[in-house]
Amino acid sequence: MPTFVNPEKCDGCKGGEKTACMYICPNDLMILDPEAMRAYNQEPEACWECYSCVKICPQGAVEARPYGDFAPMGGTSIPMRSAEDIMWTVKFRNGDVKRFKFPIRTTPEGSIKPYEGKLEPTDLDNELLFTETELAVPQVVAGNEIKIGDADKTLTIKDLL
Ligand code: SF4
Ligand code: SF4
Repeated sequence: MPTFVNPEKCDGCKGGEKTACMYICPNDLMILDPEAMRAYNQEPEACWECYSCVKICPQGAVEARPYGDFAPMGGTSIPMRSAEDIMWTVKFRNGDVKRFKFPIRTTPEGSIKPYEGKLEPTDLDNELLFTETELAVPQVVAGNEIKIGDADKTLTIKDLL
């Protein structure tokens, strides 16, 4: 079941231009109704229940059916995130409640610099990959050189021998 937003809890991220759930959804499904100031999942059938919006919502307003392998049908699982850990409250349909707390990081928050030491991005026509400094040299396979232009052709094993 896709996510749904509880309008009683959602505050539209207090009117920010881009709400937390809009920012995090890898499929751009969450959208804000600017009049109601409530977010909603605009394309529920495209939601793959990745739980990103559920975990990031500061109001705990986004809900999703928990995966069947840890909470059978009729249960709920609510995450509560802090800078260091995440706690899942799983409520089973018989009323039992279990809480699981896990650390979510091994480094101080904000300390990771993913682009440090990497090349500056250049233009889109550049054929180099982000981490390459020069184009790869064509490979020699069984004595035959594979040319860059060959990439568009369908080669059989006979072509290579
Ligand atoms: S992140 Fe939560 S509070 Fe913010 S707009 Fe989305 S559902 Fe509403
Ligand atoms: S569960 Fe994942 S795919 Fe579905 S709306 Fe939330 S962030 Fe998007």
